[in-house]
Parts: sequence; C-alpha cells; structure tokens
Amino acid sequence: MTRSTSLVHFLRHVSFPPDPHLLPTALKSCPALPLARALHAASVTAGLARDPFVASSLLHTYLRFGATDDARAMFDRMPREQRTVVGWSALVAAHAARGDAEGAWRILMQMRGAGVEPNVITWNGLVSGLNRSGHARDAVVALARMHGEGFSPDSTGVSCALSAVGDVREVSVGEQLHGYAVKAGCRLDACVVTALIDMYGKCGRDDEIVQVFDESSHIDVASCNALLAGLSRNTQVSEALRLFREFADRGIELNVVSWTSIVACCVQNGRDLEAVELFREMQAQGIEPNSVTIPCVLPAFANVAALMHGRSAHCFSLRKGIFHDIYVGSALVDMYAKCGRVRDARTIFDAMPSRNVVSWNAMIGGYAMHGEAANAVQLFCSMQKCKQKPDIVTFTCVLAACSQAGLTEEGRRYFNEMQLVHGISQRMEHYACMVTLLGRAGKLDEAYDLISEMPFEPDGCIWGSLLGSCRVHGNVDLAEVAAEKLFCLEPENAGNYVLISNIYASKKMWHGVNRVREMMKNVGLKKEKGCSWIEIKNKVHMLLAGDDSHPMMTAITEKLKHLTIEMKRLGFAPSTDFVLHDVEEQEKDHILAVHSEKLAVALGLISTSPGTPLRVIKNLRICGDCHEAMKFISYFEEREISVRDTNRFHHFRDGKCSCGDYW
Ligand code: ZN
Ligand code: ZN
Repeated sequence: MTRSTSLVHFLRHVSFPPDPHLLPTALKSCPALPLARALHAASVTAGLARDPFVASSLLHTYLRFGATDDARAMFDRMPREQRTVVGWSALVAAHAARGDAEGAWRILMQMRGAGVEPNVITWNGLVSGLNRSGHARDAVVALARMHGEGFSPDSTGVSCALSAVGDVREVSVGEQLHGYAVKAGCRLDACVVTALIDMYGKCGRDDEIVQVFDESSHIDVASCNALLAGLSRNTQVSEALRLFREFADRGIELNVVSWTSIVACCVQNGRDLEAVELFREMQAQGIEPNSVTIPCVLPAFANVAALMHGRSAHCFSLRKGIFHDIYVGSALVDMYAKCGRVRDARTIFDAMPSRNVVSWNAMIGGYAMHGEAANAVQLFCSMQKCKQKPDIVTFTCVLAACSQAGLTEEGRRYFNEMQLVHGISQRMEHYACMVTLLGRAGKLDEAYDLISEMPFEPDGCIWGSLLGSCRVHGNVDLAEVAAEKLFCLEPENAGNYVLISNIYASKKMWHGVNRVREMMKNVGLKKEKGCSWIEIKNKVHMLLAGDDSHPMMTAITEKLKHLTIEMKRLGFAPSTDFVLHDVEEQEKDHILAVHSEKLAVALGLISTSPGTPLRVIKNLRICGDCHEAMKFISYFEEREISVRDTNRFHHFRDGKCSCGDYW
C-alpha cells in the first residue's frame, strides 16, 4: 500500500472530536508515527487518553513504529491497575526485537519491581525477539533463564532458541535443547523437527540432520526443505539430490522453496549443468519460479554461458513483474555480461529502478571481463556521483579492468585511493591486480618492490602473476625468484613448472629446461582438467580435454584435422613458445591431447549453420596455442568466436582478438 492510499484508508476511521470506539481502529490503521502522535494529542485533549482501550492501542501503535520511548512514556502514565503483564510483555518483546537486550532485561526487572511476574508469553517474546534481531547468544541466555525460573518453553520457544543456537554454532547448547525437547514431549512437533534440522545443519553436523529427519514420524515439506538446506550448506550435494528425488517419489508435495533450494544447492557447489536441468524440470512440473529462484539459477546460466536459458529467465521475470526486483536485475546484468553480451547487460542495468553495490559491481565487473576499461572506469565515476559506496569487490573489478587494458596510471591511482579516500584496506586480490598491471607494463622491478612491501605474505596468485609477466618480458632473474616461491607455495601446480621452463626455452637456456623437467618428474603433479562448455540450440555441451565420450567425437576430430592442415597451408604456425604446455599430453594420442576449447569450437562449427557466432566458456586460462588457433578459425570459417576463460573474454573476429594479444 502506498503512503497516500493508506492515508485515505486511515482518514476514513477518524472522526472529530475523537470517539473512544473509533480511535483504537484508527490507530490500528495509522500509517505513520507523526499521525500516531497527533492522534495521541487529540485523545489527550478530548480526555480519552486514560480510556483503557485507547491507552492500550496507543501503546501498541508506538511499539509497532519502534518508538519505544513514546511507548514507555505512555505506559508509565497509565493507571497502575492498567499496567498488566500484557503491556509489560509487549515492552520487553519490543526492546528484544530491536536488539536492545540490555533494555529488555531492565524492563523485566522493573516489571518484577512493580509486582508483576513475567509469564510464559513474556519469556517467549523475549527469546523470539532477541533471536529475530540477530542476538542469538542473548536469546540462548534468555531461554536458559526462563528454564531456570521454572517455565517450560513450548515448542515455539524451543524452535526459536534452536534457530539462535544454529546462528552462533553452539552445538553443545543445541544438543541440550534437543534433550530438553525430548523430555518436554515436543521433540516430534513439526516446527521443532524443522528447527533441529536447521540447527544441526548450521553447526555442520550432517549425520545428525539426517538422523533427526529419519526419526520423525511425520514428514512435511518444511522439514524436507530444512534438510535440503542443511545438506547444501555442508556441501553434501549428492546426498541432497538423492533425498530430493526420494521425497518426490514418496509423494511429498515439494513447493517452490524446495525446488529453489535444490537449484541453489547445485549452483553453490559448482554443479551448474544439473542446476540448469532441475530448473527446466521444475517448470515442466508446473512449479512456478519466483523472485528468489531466478537470481539463484542465473549464475548457473552465466557459468555455462547458457544464453538461451538466461534470456528465457529474463522474459519470464518481465512477464511475472519481478524484473524490477534488485536481485533479479543484478543477476541478469551478471548473466548477460558473462554470456558475452555486455551491451545487453548495460541495457538491463540502465533500466533498473534502484541499484545496490552488487548491481554496480556486476556491471563494472562485466566491462572488466570484456577488456572495456574506459567504460568500467566511467561507470565507477558515475557510481560515486550516485553516492553509492564502493566495496572491496568494486575495486577488484576496477583494478582488473585497468590491468586488462594497460591503464597503469589510473590503476595506480585507484589502488592508492582505496585506503586514503574510501577507507578500504587493500587485500590480496588488489595486490594481485597491481602486480599484473605493473608486470604487463614491463615495470617488473616496481611490481617486485610492491610485493616486498606487502603487509602480509603474498600468495601463489601474486607470484604466479609476476612469473607470467616475466615470461612476456623475458626477465629470467625475477622469474627464478618467483618460481622458487611458487615451488614452495604450490608444489603440485604444473603450470608454474611449464612457465619457468618456457622462459628458459625462449632464452635457449637448455640446462634450466632440463632441471625443471627433472623437478617435474620428482613431484606428483596435479593438473586441473581442462573443461569447456558451449550452448548449441538450447542445449549446453561439456567437453573435457582427453575425453572422447562425446557422441560426435569422430566428426569433431575430422574437423580439427582439416583445420590443422589448412592452418599450416596458410602459414599460421602454432606458437612454439607454448611447446612445453602439454608435456604430458603430447605423449598421448595427438587428437585426444587437444585442449577442450578447440573441441568445443569444432563441435560448434559442425553443429550450427555458417555464420552463427560461437560462445565458449573455459575453466582454465586459454593458452597461446589455442589463442592463435581461434584467431585463424575466426578468419578461415568466417565466424565470430568468443572464449571466456577464468581471466577475461576473448572475442575473435576476422583473424584478430579483442584483447589485442595483450592478456
Ligand atoms: Zn590451449
Ligand atoms: Zn585474446
């Protein structure tokens, strides 16, 4: 209800002079505190303020607006016999609900001083108020006091306290409450079962979650949802998925909350394709997504670049009138940017009726990912003009944008202003951006000085970035320093050995190459499996390097062979700089060793009509060899190809890449 319509509604109840029967009704629909105060004054003038109904209505109206001081003054002026346990309890609960634990306890003492004993309603109000205002520890203390004074918390009190215990992760108190619930006979009450599952879930006890669930005789959708949320929080995705299926088979009527939790569970645990599938299934079963479901599932579409799915979620939110929801809007901005549609992201961003820091970050991050530094910087300025305070993520995005585009001066300035102007301390990721920024600009010594001056220990990302820059600028001395650090910090990361070995190779320092090769043999190297996704005709395909299980693999292989021949014929030589990149894979079958993004592009080429743009997402950084190949394919096949790796977007067209080979 808008303010003006509620005012009209409200004025209908008011008559002048005020009437003792109508005043309480008027107060109930009173839309704003100043009006309540005016009504209070009017009732005093009319001599009605001492009427018990009017007085009690005024008290509750003040409490409804959180005006505890007015309420207290009102209450103190009431005749003694009217200051009953109901009024006192309302004051206690109101202070508790505002998070004023001290005030709530003080009133409880004053209440006793006035000869009024708190009852079970007073205590429950205190416990649940403290819990709702996020004062979990105080809520648990209140519950213990309540119990100590001989009151038996009912199932509502127990479930409130359990939820509080979960928030402070006090599992031992939770276990006591569990025991208490068993003794008090409310253990099997539906709300207690749900609260127990929720509490054990938050405390990371996944065995207990399942046990509580199994022991309860009556299973309802609320306890199922608590179980799914608990398992999801403890990254038990497979178990959550299994039980979700089981609930459906047992005929439990799963609702939009259940479906949203299972979708969110998959997204939060990196099972994007399953999330996409579940979202489809949910709609097929006639369960309509809501304004929570859509922002939950959009990151999955973004992660696997499922633009078609993302677009249909966009249309759906327009149809259902949830498009203007700030979470839906921000998630759409993020999805379009990550699916390579930065212009569409901007259109959504501009249409948002209100924005928070997440919305701004999504758009600035989108520009950074596409290497559009000027736009990122410009938006960062508008953000400040709109009085939106930047946060740590904003600076990561802005600095990343500057480093992508070589804006050394701007980057340096923003980095320094973080603390000075915005009071935000630089974190590891900001230093990593700066090292990349300086390193790319060839200012390797300055990058090294920055690392040396860091107020905390630099991590593998920082040294990795320096090592990468050393390769570009051929600085062997600093590369060796960085590599030594990396061999300690991440001894099993194959990429570091490959990089330093490439640096030696480019300088023809074969002794170094051999030494690194020996080291690689001696440590058990872990290589993250390369994986790419491509959306073709509404279906997302996943391709793994070295995996020939895709049904079209023979055709993909043929296509790649043909492309390789053409590439050689037209003089596009694969970069020898990256010769060591696949030192292990080269020993295997030649075609199986192809990187996953090449497999995905080949699949796209043979499955779509000529001229269709191709969008590929990769879970690692694109290598120089694939980068060259993509440039060639975009020219030879006359296709626009975009590849999003962990770092940024590469848009290939007519044999060139949008990154200008600067990445
Ligand atoms: Zn590659
Ligand atoms: Zn590129």
